[in-house]
Amino acid sequence: MADQKKMVESITSMDVDFAQWYTDVVKKAELVDYAPVRGCMIVRPYGCAIWENIQKILDEKFKATGHENVMMPLFIPESLLQKEKDHVEGFAPEVAWVTTGGAEQLSERLCVRPTSETLFCDHFAHVVHSYRDLPKLYNQWCSVVRWEKTTRPFLRTMEFWWQEGHTVHETAEEAQAETRQQLEVYAEVCEKYLAIPVIRGRKTDKEKFAGAEETYTVEAMMHDGKALQSATSHYFGDGFAKAFDITFQGRDNQLHHPYETSWGMSTRIIGAIIMTHGDDNGLVLPPAVAPIQVIIIPVAQHKPGVLEKAEELRQKLSAFCRVKTDVSDNSPGWKYAEYEMKGVPLRLEIGPRDIEAGQCVLARRDNREKTIVKLDELETKIPELLQAVHDGLYERALKNRQNRTFTATTFEEMKRLASEESGFIETMWCGDLECEMKVKEEAGLTSRCMPDEQKHIGDVCPICGKPAKHSIIWGKAY
Ligand code: AMP
Ligand code: ZN
Repeated sequence: MADQKKMVESITSMDVDFAQWYTDVVKKAELVDYAPVRGCMIVRPYGCAIWENIQKILDEKFKATGHENVMMPLFIPESLLQKEKDHVEGFAPEVAWVTTGGAEQLSERLCVRPTSETLFCDHFAHVVHSYRDLPKLYNQWCSVVRWEKTTRPFLRTMEFWWQEGHTVHETAEEAQAETRQQLEVYAEVCEKYLAIPVIRGRKTDKEKFAGAEETYTVEAMMHDGKALQSATSHYFGDGFAKAFDITFQGRDNQLHHPYETSWGMSTRIIGAIIMTHGDDNGLVLPPAVAPIQVIIIPVAQHKPGVLEKAEELRQKLSAFCRVKTDVSDNSPGWKYAEYEMKGVPLRLEIGPRDIEAGQCVLARRDNREKTIVKLDELETKIPELLQAVHDGLYERALKNRQNRTFTATTFEEMKRLASEESGFIETMWCGDLECEMKVKEEAGLTSRCMPDEQKHIGDVCPICGKPAKHSIIWGKAY
């Protein structure tokens, strides 16, 4: 027990200092290391394995709906970036520039892609000529660079890994349907795979993506009540197509501009997993993306037959789950603490007495419940318990969000809630930027989204008293 305590003592309790707890967990669970350049991260094998599992799930879903992967260049010539006015204005403050190559001063600066709309548009202008060429449903897996001021591993880094989908369509309706379809893919991945309940909604004009007509988002609430934008999906109308002169010959033989979308989920989502499910013993991983779903810990492993049985079980289990055995000479207590820190959903303990009785102990990471299971029932019990862990995590996260969601009908009430509570505040809103700015300045809250599930909380905007147009959710965000 002593060594188990030592490992756990080394992380800050989340109730004492949530930010420090987060930093401790990402280091102790061996997800990342700090990079030589400020704000960049080194994703270590365990972190990388989580990302690969997320990638696999997303990639399959994209392909099932007809999307194809491509690879675009890292650099964008300045002249290309400048073609769409809102886009360049929005991104200019966070762009990194290459000005020299070797010893040579470049005649045109190259920006390191912060996102690739401009590259895709330029390419679409080359390959789209007729309605027969449409739609083009593309995606790329890559990293991008945004010169962020404050950074934190996964949540906000200067270089981050993501996928960016870019599509071009014959009609506005098709592009709008694509935007919503992809948002639903993200929502489904968050809820059904990552056990993170999300609110689907639309961003205000102030918060939408630079150059988009509409930005949709899935917003999650972290354990401490703060919001995290977990993925976005943008509808561009024909704005980019006009700026980049993309045209196609329509069914009517006339030239038209097509309609575009883009959508992305980044390594930030790993931060969401940590901050939604983690506890004072470390990471808690949703089974669908856990690199190890079951860790086998042999007890009294020096006794005859224990290691052999552990290996036999590992082989058997590997047919239906991701399983590992820890045969190192660390004590079982140390191993328990280590795999709890790493968030492994199920621990299987097997010792001489268990072997004799033809059973083992299965311990859940989420609620620490232990069950004795017959060895010949593992094939049905393990998938059941993994599902139970998923459901338990989802329920706990949903309850946290419900407990921390408030409604307000006056500005006074909004300000009081903002200072006393940490969570979401739902109100009505007139739709004016002025009121949104006032909430930011006086209550310290940003708009998260106008949720798809609109509520009627009152008839007027609590900030200005004018007739309300939408219900809207406010919060403090990572
Ligand atoms: P955007 O292109 O701004 O709509 O962002 C696409 C996705 O990347 C969203 O899920 C963002 O939350 C996420 N994202 C934006 N900036 C960063 C960053 N600096 N680090 C990690 N993820 C980010
Ligand atoms: Zn108002």
